[in-house]
Amino acid sequence: MDRLEIVEADITTLDVDAIVNAANTSLLGGGGVDGAIHRAAGKELLAECRTLNGCRTGEAKITKGYNLKARHVIHTVGPVYSDGRQGEPELLAACYRNSLALAVENGLKTIAFPLISTGVYGYPLEEATPIALREIKAFLETHPDFERVIVACFSRKAYDLYMQLTME
Ligand code: ADP
Repeated sequence: MDRLEIVEADITTLDVDAIVNAANTSLLGGGGVDGAIHRAAGKELLAECRTLNGCRTGEAKITKGYNLKARHVIHTVGPVYSDGRQGEPELLAACYRNSLALAVENGLKTIAFPLISTGVYGYPLEEATPIALREIKAFLETHPDFERVIVACFSRKAYDLYMQLTME
């Protein structure tokens, strides 16, 4: 799948139509990748987010990218992981699916994802990775005109695991 690219990178540096933010339901900023995106985008991002009335888990909302290289930010809210039997897989899959659908609706062609829910929200990387890959690959197969999906891994460990699972 040559339109899927796995990279080890800080997602805030990527030059794409949209980067995806692993946000929380308030959409008013937080730690991890959310904090990094808000810091890099500037205060205007928070101002636009305040107008959105939050976001439910599994859903996605789009804003401009402001000071980021990326033109847009797609904010999605991943599930908090408890034991994997509380609907977490479906909600995580919905994050990827709804973010990609929003990109298409807005005429975007390139997008970069962080590893949603695998930080503070506690989703084991080994369980989240196959879900993300399945959704991204299914999307690319049905959207031949979409140019590129990047998965930005923030650690070498995550990158290595992703590469290993992508090869399978
Ligand atoms: P969540 O609350 O959805 O778990 P986190 O931000 O805590 O969100 O973590 C999600 C993933 O994003 C983690 O794998 C974390 O290592 C990664 N991450 C944190 N900062 C960045 C960044 N600047 N670029 C890319 N990934 C990042």
